[in-house]
Amino acid sequence: MRAVSVHPDVLVITSRMWQTNAVALRAGDESMLVDSPYFPDELEALPGLLAGAGFEPDALLATHADFDHLLGRLAFPGLALGLGEPSVARIHREPGAAQRTLREHDEEWYVERPAPLALGQVQGLPVPGSVEVGSEELELHPADGHTEDGLAVMARWCGVLCAGDYLSGVEIPMISPGGSLAAYRATLARLAPLVDAADTVVPGHGAPNGRDGARRILDEDVTYLDGLERGEERPALPKGRDGREQRKIHERNLDVIRSA
Ligand SMILES: [Zn+2]
Repeated sequence: MRAVSVHPDVLVITSRMWQTNAVALRAGDESMLVDSPYFPDELEALPGLLAGAGFEPDALLATHADFDHLLGRLAFPGLALGLGEPSVARIHREPGAAQRTLREHDEEWYVERPAPLALGQVQGLPVPGSVEVGSEELELHPADGHTEDGLAVMARWCGVLCAGDYLSGVEIPMISPGGSLAAYRATLARLAPLVDAADTVVPGHGAPNGRDGARRILDEDVTYLDGLERGEERPALPKGRDGREQRKIHERNLDVIRSA
């Protein structure tokens, strides 16, 4: 687990698993934690690490209802988890899915947890909408397409956009069952002006990028989606995202759009 300060009020914590990012955002004496690291030792160390840096979260927020973004309560069992209303609807439609998928990945990697995942009290938030942190406002923007749900978090006071599972420098666009190509494109179009207004863009997986870097990834993603839409079996993948695992994601993307 790595912690990088991208702004005096923003700490990005990157998990060893899939470079998954959790982001602590502070305004005055209040903090919000967006998403979560994966491994039990990382979750156990998180409260101490954040407190040491002056971030003690008052609330948790997840960008979408994929299991790897929902683990905040394993570190902060006393806090409620905020989710966009589409994510709450998804969880109700697929009860236990996040817990089941987490168990499957834990089994694959021989990960043992002190306690199973319990989402506890979930707070549904309208998207688009906003939530208060101290004297500031976090904007919640719809970000579906990767999955059927999803939101991006814009913290204008510190110039940081938490994009959820978009604009990653390590992962090509992933269209999960429930997501869609059209919705993915619409989300990229919605994210573009937010990227332009941001200093730092933190993707769900992979290193934070400056505005120009994120803009380049966005353009690469649009090009990739064009090839996907044409049904290309072996499109040229963006540099740094062209390995074997990314090819597998492309195969799965083709399956999803063909069965849509
Ligand atoms: Zn993810």
